[in-house]
Amino acid sequence: MKELQSTQLLKEVMGKYFTTLGESEATGRKVAWCTSTGPAELLRAFGFEVYFPENHGALLGTTRTAGDYIPVAVKQGYAGDICSYLTSDIGAYLDRRTPLTQHYGLSHIPKPDVLAYTTNQCREVQDWFAFYAREFSVPLVGVNPPRFVDEVSAENVADVRRQFESLVPALEAASGVVFDIDRFRETVRLSSEASALWRSVLETAKASPAPLSFFDGTIHMGPIVVLRGTEAAVNYYHALLLELNGRVAAGVGVVSNEMARLYWDGMPIWGKLRSMSNLFHSNAAVVVASTYCNSWILDTMDERTPFESTALAYTQIFINRSEQAKEKILAELMAEYRVDGIIFHDARTCFNNTNARFGMPQRVQQKTGVPSLVIEGDLCDLRFFSEGQTTTKIEAFIEQLIDAKMGVEA
Ligand code: SF4
Repeated sequence: MKELQSTQLLKEVMGKYFTTLGESEATGRKVAWCTSTGPAELLRAFGFEVYFPENHGALLGTTRTAGDYIPVAVKQGYAGDICSYLTSDIGAYLDRRTPLTQHYGLSHIPKPDVLAYTTNQCREVQDWFAFYAREFSVPLVGVNPPRFVDEVSAENVADVRRQFESLVPALEAASGVVFDIDRFRETVRLSSEASALWRSVLETAKASPAPLSFFDGTIHMGPIVVLRGTEAAVNYYHALLLELNGRVAAGVGVVSNEMARLYWDGMPIWGKLRSMSNLFHSNAAVVVASTYCNSWILDTMDERTPFESTALAYTQIFINRSEQAKEKILAELMAEYRVDGIIFHDARTCFNNTNARFGMPQRVQQKTGVPSLVIEGDLCDLRFFSEGQTTTKIEAFIEQLIDAKMGVEA
């Protein structure tokens, strides 16, 4: 399939984001560093340029430079089997290098004026940001939502709402800007709108043939991660959705002979996106949905209740849910996307976003009848990934799914 035309626009949007960020020292704009599912809307309401170290970690993964930097962080006492976003990012910082130089011309990543995290995804981000707080002597603020929630209760939301509100004085001090609820309502509105469009983008893959795969999603998700709360993200997803709807109407799919539809649970293997994508497509299979890309569907945000609705949106994300709630969500997605099989990626350095270690593949299979396969790998550290073994496993799995679909005895 031809590359999506929107890819050119995506490059421009991401280029502008990084260039503007790189100019912040010259323009005097304040910079906040934020976790990927952190309070970006609130930070933007204070006028901060917002930078996401996890996005940088993914870039270190896709450029396959993570392996050069992980040992540098290990020398500083960070274990080699903890989050490889964290270790590669800290290692790159200590080495004073970043792929942003080659790709966007940034000589270095702008220093933060404040660091803001939420531990809705993991505690690792808190330690990671604490490193930079010490390094730059800047304030570190954070929200610690209740973890592994089943159904999110009104008490949970009230607790997180209070925590969000308590960030305001520190953000006023770091930005020099007095909090304005109307500016916050506006960033929440923009975030919700972009998020609803992102949902629609992902849902085009319910069509068969699917016009978009998980691997495309990992590239086109850039703006919903780093530009939440801006017009730029809204405009981008309008354009992408238009193109994908055109593909659905014309019956154009990622592969012309779609024989198997799969779900991907867990982190991407950033350094192997292209080869993994080719592997599925050359076997007439498409990964039509994923836990990862769905993580930025935050469209329950509502500008009428900015604190409450952001508290709800960031507490109810998949990674922060109980095993039982996750299984229910997965079962619903299996049915909605008419999935033939699930791949569970057991990422060696991220147990937080790995659901393969406590029997979930078996339970989901029992509940839905959808077969599953566990593959071992990692988000950035390719020492934990064996391409040969994984290819063999995935090819055999897809063959089995297609045979079952065609009514052939395996
Ligand atoms: S969720 Fe996993 S990959 Fe993401 S920051 Fe936490 S430990 Fe790292």
